[in-house]
This record gives sequence, C-alpha cells and structure tokens, in this order.
Amino acid sequence: MTYPMSDEDRAIQERARRFVDEELIPYEVDAEMNQGVLPPAVIERQEARLRELGLSAVNMPKELGGDGLSVFQQVLVSEQIGRATNALGWVLHNGPQWAVEIFTDEQVERYLKPFIRGEKRECYAITEPGAGSDVDAIEATARRDGDAYVLNGLKWHVTSFNKADVVFFQAKLADAPNQGTHALFIVDIPSEGVRVVATPAYSHTFADHHAIVEFTGVRVPAANLVGEEGGGMDFTYAWFRYERLMIAARCCGAAERLIDEATAFAKERAQFGRPIIEFQAVAHMLADSLTELWAARLMTYRLGQEIDEGVDVKVQHAHCSMAKLYGSEMANRVADRAVQIFGGRGYMRENVAERFYREVRVDRIWEGTSEIQRNIVADQLAKRGVRALAG
Ligand SMILES: Cc1cc2nc3c(=O)[nH]c(=O)nc-3n(C[C@H](O)[C@H](O)[C@H](O)COP(=O)(O)OP(=O)(O)OC[C@H]3O[C@@H](n4cnc5c(N)ncnc54)[C@H](O)[C@@H]3O)c2cc1C
Repeated sequence: MTYPMSDEDRAIQERARRFVDEELIPYEVDAEMNQGVLPPAVIERQEARLRELGLSAVNMPKELGGDGLSVFQQVLVSEQIGRATNALGWVLHNGPQWAVEIFTDEQVERYLKPFIRGEKRECYAITEPGAGSDVDAIEATARRDGDAYVLNGLKWHVTSFNKADVVFFQAKLADAPNQGTHALFIVDIPSEGVRVVATPAYSHTFADHHAIVEFTGVRVPAANLVGEEGGGMDFTYAWFRYERLMIAARCCGAAERLIDEATAFAKERAQFGRPIIEFQAVAHMLADSLTELWAARLMTYRLGQEIDEGVDVKVQHAHCSMAKLYGSEMANRVADRAVQIFGGRGYMRENVAERFYREVRVDRIWEGTSEIQRNIVADQLAKRGVRALAG
C-alpha cells in the first residue's frame, strides 16, 4: 500500500484483513444460501476472535472498555470489513459513538457499557412512510406524561430490529415548550406497544432484517430521553457523518475485493485462445476500476485523518458526503464491471460479483441518497468556496 501510515495503523489494518480472510469470506456462500444466517457456533467463534484481535468495540473509548481506535484506524478496519459480502462484517459491532458525550451516567451503565461489551445491540427508527430524505417530515410523536413519555409512530426500514435489544426512536415533541422539535428516545425491545408490522424482503441476503415497526402508546421513562428535548437532530447528524464515512470505507473494501477477484479470473479465463485480460475491452474495465478505487481510498483515508486532527465540523460534514457519494458510486461501477468480466458466472449467486452487485446498490440510498449528498456538497460549496473544501 502506498498511503503513509504508522506501524500501529498498518498492524490494525493487517489484523482486520486476516480476520476477514479467515473468518468471514469462507462463510459467504453458506450465508447466501441460508437467508444470510450462519450457525451460532460460527458467530461465537468470530466474536471471540474479534475480542482477541482487539477489534470488538473499535469506535468506543478505552475508559469505557472499548478498543479506542482513532477515526483513521476505524476507517482501515471498516474498509477490510467491506471486503466480505452478506454483511458478515456486521459481527463487528460499531455502537453509537455519539452517545459517549451525551448519555447520562445511568444510560451509560444500562446501555452504552452493554453495547461495548457486546451484550446489547441497538437499531435506529427514524424513517417513516412519509419521511425519508426529508427527516423533518416525521409524524411520530412524543408526549410527556408525568415522569414518562408516550411514543406513537410508524417506522420503516428499521435495520437489525430482529437482532436488537434497544431501538432509538426519533419523534417530534407534542407539547410546549419544545413542541414540534425533534427528540430521540431509547426504547427497550420488547416493550408494550412495539409491534413488527412486516418484515419485507430486500435485494441483499442479510441475517439482519429491515422491519416495519409500529409504536402505539409506548411508555418510556423520562430518563430514556437522549440529551435534551429538541436535540434529536444533532445526534442524527453526528451518526450520519460517522456512517457516511464508514460506508465510503466499506465501499473501498468491496471494490478492492471485486478488482482482485475479477483480475484473477481475467488472467485465468481463456477465450479465443488467450486469457480475456489480453482483450483491451476487459483490461480497460479493470484499469478504470483500479483508478477509481485509488481516488476513493485517498479521499476516505484523508477524511479519517482530518477528523482525528479536529477539522471544522461543517467541513467534515461536506467531506463525509463527498466520500460517501464518490465511494458508493465508484463501488457500484466496479461491481457492474466485475459482473461483466465474469460473464455468465457473474450472474450466479455463488459468485462474489453477483452478491456485491446487489449489495452495494443500497450504499447509494441509505444514510442519505446520492442526490441528498450532492445537495449537501453544493450547499457547503456555496457557503465556503472551493478552497475550503478541496484546497
Ligand atoms: C436497506 C435499507 C436499510 C435502511 N435502514 C434504515 C434504518 O435502520 N433506520 C432508518 O431510520 N432508516 C433506514 N433506511 C431508510 C433510508 O435512510 C431511506 O430509504 C433514505 O434516506 C431515502 O429515503 P426514502 O427511501 O424515503 O426515499 P425518498 O426520500 O422518498 O426519495 C426518493 C427519491 O427522491 C430523491 N429526492 C428526495 N428528496 C430530494 C431532493 N431534495 N433533491 C433531489 N432528490 C431528492 C431521492 O434521492 C430518491 O431518489 C434504510 C433503507 C434501506 C433501503
């Protein structure tokens, strides 16, 4: 690798790479053929291995029992995780890092520490039938009632609800003085009034489902409000920034794996008496893919480092959108070319390119669509100018 990094950074990258090669990639086809589900014994071994490697809570501080990796190091790990299909890499759990600064002592003990120890998992319920890109259009409500809040709303695409112990529920406050502002609540699963309406099928084959969940008169203690009334959007933006960066990193990993596998195939597969890599049409697809991967990787690595350096949060916001936009669109182009290079084999579910072709599509949609990322970048460009953002 040509990118400058410390010996410690490289050692972390190598540990994550070995984990993916040895513990995840061998199980991809089994997962694909079994609705994404692996035997519990396999998951337990993967989790134990992650603990041994110091990769079980990479985005959490050491004081709370996490691995305390820098943002750049987390990027390196996520990139490796992105090399495996079927979301097998989600066995490495990135908990809500934004909560470290925000949670009350009680919330830290009840929720954050169990997340870090791997005893509890969380999921997010923000999107609704009428509110996707326009998060402010949510209709879910939270009404104060004595020492509790009463939550109502219908949420879509709640990723990992089937595996989670806790759901972060975003709502608008129904009463003065903060009526109409957003607030985020911690809801235990199960809770009275929380009901799965449907578990729709999606393009990818993941063990984590994306449920439609109804919240009807759900009472949560006031102590389960995250931060303060009206602060809900701040945490969501912090989470979006983090996830956008990590999506960019995972997309780089996906592209590397696809280019590796497609190149090996193109060198070995012969037609018309010679390896297909000798046909310029095939070689150029690989060359374009490699060039775009390098561009995305440089952008993503530099962004990780600049966050560690404490660059202005508005600049971070624009750069996270740029990295996610470019990385996800790059990975989609690379996956499309890889399917083409594999020919008919690339359309078979046992083929890595076929799986990635379906899986990376959502990276242009979730955590803000490509169109929304472009809106954010253009808005920041108008406010700050080229030099501040690409100088
Ligand atoms: C697999 C999956 C998992 C998900 N997991 C979660 C989850 O765990 N929790 C959660 O809360 N949500 C989750 N989501 C929801 C996801 O964040 C939304 O799907 C996404 O933000 C887009 O919202 P939407 O689907 O309602 O599309 P819409 O917002 O309706 O957009 C439809 C189209 O219009 C375009 N568009 C909308 N507004 C503009 C604009 N201003 N300018 C230009 N174009 C625009 C969009 O780019 C898109 O092309 C998940 C989605 C998927 C597919």
